[in-house]
Order: sequence, then C-alpha cells, then structure tokens
Amino acid sequence: MTEKAQNPNRKPAGKKKKKSSVLPMLLLTVIAVAGVCGGTWLVLTGLDRSAAEKNTAQSSVIETEPGTTVTTEVTTTTETTTTTQRSLPPGSVTGISLSFTEVVMKVGDDTVMPLVTMTPEDAEDKSEKWESSDKSVATVDDIGRITPVGAGSCIIKVTSVNNPDVFAEVSVRVADPDAPATTAAPTAATSQTTARPKNTAEVDGLEEKDGATYVHGILIANKTYALPKTYNPGGLTKETMDAFHELEKAGADAGYTYTIVSGFRSYEEQDTLYHNYVNRDGKAEADTYSARPGHSEHQTGLAMDLNCAGAAFHNTPEAKWLAENCWKYGFIIRFPKGKEDKTGYMYESWHIRYVGKDWAKKIYDSGLCLEEYFGIESKYED
Ligand SMILES: [Zn+2]
Repeated sequence: MTEKAQNPNRKPAGKKKKKSSVLPMLLLTVIAVAGVCGGTWLVLTGLDRSAAEKNTAQSSVIETEPGTTVTTEVTTTTETTTTTQRSLPPGSVTGISLSFTEVVMKVGDDTVMPLVTMTPEDAEDKSEKWESSDKSVATVDDIGRITPVGAGSCIIKVTSVNNPDVFAEVSVRVADPDAPATTAAPTAATSQTTARPKNTAEVDGLEEKDGATYVHGILIANKTYALPKTYNPGGLTKETMDAFHELEKAGADAGYTYTIVSGFRSYEEQDTLYHNYVNRDGKAEADTYSARPGHSEHQTGLAMDLNCAGAAFHNTPEAKWLAENCWKYGFIIRFPKGKEDKTGYMYESWHIRYVGKDWAKKIYDSGLCLEEYFGIESKYED
C-alpha cells in the first residue's frame, strides 16, 4: 500500500557528505522483508545504509532540528522490476526492490536514498549501478543518494551489475523552491479527467456518480473512463483489504505467500509517474504500460499489485494459483493475457482488482476480461 512518510534518510542541512567509496558493499545489505520475483520470500538482515553511515560518522548525531519543516515526500511503495526469463548461473541476482519508488523534492532539499534489496540473499555480487535520466533535474551518486538539481521530472534507475536485466526505478519530481506548494508540480500537463465515451448510453447498467463511472455498481477506471482528480479513498478500501486478507490466508494454506507491493495511488502520484515515463519513453510507449492520471485503477483503492510487478512474476506457481483462485475472494486478474486490445494494457499477472465475490465468479467463469464482460471500451480519445 502506498503511503506518505518522512524521509528516513534525511540529514540536517549543512552536514558534509561522505565519499561513497568509504562504504564497503557489504554494508549495502538492508533490513527488509523482500519480495522476490521467483516467488520465494526472504528476510534479509544486515546493516541498512543510513545505519552504516551513522556508524561510520561515529560522533555526529543525525537528527532534524526542532521546528524544521520536512517538505520532502517519499512514497514508500516497494516495487520490484525484473525481466529475467532465461536461466542464469547460480548466485546471480534475480530481483531488486526499493524502499520507495516515487519522491517529490524541492531544489535545496537534502539528498534522499532508497534502500535497496537484492535477491536472492546469497547472491554473490550485489553491486549497484545508479543513473539519472536527466542530470539537470536530479543526480545520483554511486550508492543511490539522490540530489535535486532543477525543477522537472526524471527517473533514477538502479541496475544490478551482476545481472543488468534486473533493475528498479525511482520516479523523481523536483519542484521549484519558490513555488507555492499547491502549484509545485512541474508536470502541468494534466489530462482530461472526465473523458466521456460516445457509446455511454448503449452500455447496460452504466451510471455516473460524482464524475465517476460505474457499471452495475462496479467502479470503472480504464482508458475510456477516468476518475475525477478528487477521487481519493485515501488507501485501499476496507472491503478490498478484508478480501485480500482472506486471499492471503488461503494462499498461505496452499503454500504461497502474497504481499501487496503497490496499492492505492493518488491522482497526483500517478501524474508524476506517468509523465516521468513519457519523458523517458515517449507517450505512445508509456501508454502501453502506465495509465494516464485519472485512468489508473490504483486510484480506485480497489486494485493492487502482488509480489512483483514485473514479467518475472508470469508463470510462477504464485501467479498460477492467483489466476485460478483469486475470484473466490472477490478479485479478478484485471489485465489478462490475450486481452490486450480490450483492456488497453499488456498482460499483468500481478495486478488484481476487487469486484466482489459474485461478479468475480461470473467474470472468471465467462473467461472474458472486464471490458468484454460489460461491453465497455478502453481507449484514449487521442
Ligand atoms: Zn497495478
């Protein structure tokens, strides 16, 4: 689940940065419960990097001065991105995850540093390679400290040196320090939030309430139907979480572990994410894997990504059990394989959507995706 938190790595202004080379790689192991794309779950123990810094610094106590306003926002979603499908030599790195994947900063803010977990635990070489897609926005050093440079958006990418197919990304937005908070977002290009399909009247059971679209009571967010900017349940809804806990328990009984790596995402968070992808890959490509703001199911508070939001989750025993059983707990695989032209998105074995048990069973039994089942479209107007 996505949440806002104060940056744990924040250092007081003026504190001198140490050279990264003094930190041995051994210290980079983090304390974290880590999701592994292969379906195994491990608990890694060791020193986290901020702890390592404190130990190295010895004398200086790191704390924020009283009255200091912490303006940096860190989204503490843990997401793992791996694309490895081929067989690798033993000891290879197969997964990487970060303690946060989005950050909003201001020029002049101190550095932030996501904690990195590489898996498996016994991988031989956990070296990291860090790079910024735009150094005029933010730079990153050898151990992942991100420094805001100028207003704009960029992607900070960490890649496993051992296995360059394995990487994770932080979406960074840097606002102008003088800009008022409400207009801090440099990604002003907000998309149409009330996209209205031309065939609305023909869809059975479709109704609009407070700018959101429902079909037979099911909230719809796709490329045709957008949620209002203000739609914000504040997190995954209670019924979604209750259903997840049921699924989690049944999965555990069957021998599988499920963990939410991405839950609710606000309009603003999606706006940052999407525009960073557009800046990097262009609009056409970004549209195949990232929703425009207002169009993301994660804004409904009814959808979540489990274990590993990446192709490496496909074909795992966890993915197979999820596809066969999630309907029993009220979920559907929202973007099934072979339905890309209907849903508008590539196959996502890890993304489930709560629709309630009755609908989930009907949709599962039909073999159709949500768009086909209700006869709705998922296409941007442009
Ligand atoms: Zn998702």
